[in-house]
Amino acid sequence: MTQQVKHFIDGEFVSSTSDKLIPVTDPATQEVIAHVPCATPDEMHRAVESAKAAFLTWKEVPVSDRARLMMRYAHLLKEHQAEIADIICKELGKTVEDAKGDVWRGIEVVEQAANIPSLMMGETVENVARSIDTYSYIQPLGVCAGITPFNFPAMIPLWMFPLAIACGNTFVLKPSEQDPMTVNKLAELFAQAGAPKGVLQVVHGAKEQVDAILHHPDIKAISFVGSVNVGQYIYKTGTDNLKRVQAFAGAKNHMVIMPDANKQQVVNALVGASVGAAGQRCMAISVAVFVGDAAKWIPDVAAAIGKVRPGVYTDPDAAYGPQISPQARARVLSLIAQGKKEGATCVLDGSDCKVEGYPNGNWVGPTVFTNVTTDMEIYKQEIFGPVLTTMQVDSLDAALKVVNDSPYGNGTSIYTASGAAARKYQHEVEVGQIGINIPIPVPLPFFSFTGWKGSFYGDQHAYGKQAVRFYTETKTITARWFNDDIPVSGPNMSINL
Ligand code: NAD
Repeated sequence: MTQQVKHFIDGEFVSSTSDKLIPVTDPATQEVIAHVPCATPDEMHRAVESAKAAFLTWKEVPVSDRARLMMRYAHLLKEHQAEIADIICKELGKTVEDAKGDVWRGIEVVEQAANIPSLMMGETVENVARSIDTYSYIQPLGVCAGITPFNFPAMIPLWMFPLAIACGNTFVLKPSEQDPMTVNKLAELFAQAGAPKGVLQVVHGAKEQVDAILHHPDIKAISFVGSVNVGQYIYKTGTDNLKRVQAFAGAKNHMVIMPDANKQQVVNALVGASVGAAGQRCMAISVAVFVGDAAKWIPDVAAAIGKVRPGVYTDPDAAYGPQISPQARARVLSLIAQGKKEGATCVLDGSDCKVEGYPNGNWVGPTVFTNVTTDMEIYKQEIFGPVLTTMQVDSLDAALKVVNDSPYGNGTSIYTASGAAARKYQHEVEVGQIGINIPIPVPLPFFSFTGWKGSFYGDQHAYGKQAVRFYTETKTITARWFNDDIPVSGPNMSINL
């Protein structure tokens, strides 16, 4: 029997008593490297009870001490970046550089959490009426929870619990069952940084454990990142249970290429943004919309993407790794087959990809389609594989219509030398994160991750100021202190101060 992944409950790594175990496999070989338990109802209960008890003391810890915890944590994460990346490589198959980037983008959020004193400043107005002042504080909510996807096993959990905990909350995290070991390392380092017992809990499992979170009366707020259907389910069920929910979901991101753009920049950007990380990124560019004469670059784009090849993380020449599971690979392959059936032209076909020495890996080679139309499944569905679909339109207005008609709105990018075109695009496009000559415009953590439309359900987004608002409640105080200069007034029968 391989190792069983432990929960982290009440400050300790504990073995589960569950008999429901899910194998964690190396996606390059299918070797089972661990088993992850589905937490029992009792384990779920203990985790929430411990978080609830820890909240009573943690919320009273001075904000500067909470900030210092985050400083120590960021430091430890940096020291252990390569070790965490190695776990990501083994359970998810990312290349080493990409896995290090996954950790780094999370560390940046922890650094932001170390700024919590200024992020938690309230507002004040003196003399809202004669000798009366109004001021507001923001205070933590209590026990918050996070449910995370497989594709960024370090960054996305780090989007959630550091800021929530820096705000004074305690946190229950349910990571993806497909790569659960990365989060255990994050929890171990958090304890090592000095996080008090109970402030962070990690419970493993799948749908049943998510349902336990959604229905638990003591969980006040839920952060979710994952696929569209699950995101909608979590938003609807969580809010139905009167919880605060932010749900980041799937995407279909377009890059618009104007004919005045720099061709080489476009080609390079499209290679990395479409097939990098095996296309398993919610901000991957999966649709390239070529405007006018820019379409003549499509063969060069396909040729450049064709030079890229997947491989195992130990191979320094591998551009990206395998799909997370045989099921994910089969889904990508069936969408490629459907694209061909529906009449798109597959100018680069990665369906039959082999990697020497790894016959059982979930490989999909880089794939490019031309003549794609918006009624095709390869356009409508998030493929989440190394597949670029391309389209041609006559004008920027026509490109805007394609992008704005999409039900998703996570990210988009425009490549152009024209400030006027870029300005028009950023102003009119109905997407929450826009890159101008930047292919994957994920904002740094002093901003927020602001997906729109079907890519996000909720109000306040991840990290930055919006996350602090999400994880806190505002308390507004209106105060008057009597002294001899203030005349005693009679009863006030109106609503005026
Ligand atoms: P997923 O929806 O399958 O799983 C996400 C989480 O939900 C996991 O923890 C899983 O255990 C749980 N879950 C799965 N099925 C469930 C169900 N029926 N009921 C309750 N919980 C369930 O997503 P995934 O395949 O792990 O991740 C890939 C998806 O995540 C892609 O669609 C990608 O676009 C999206 N994603 C979005 C963002 C964003 O910021 N918008 C970022 C990263 C990933």
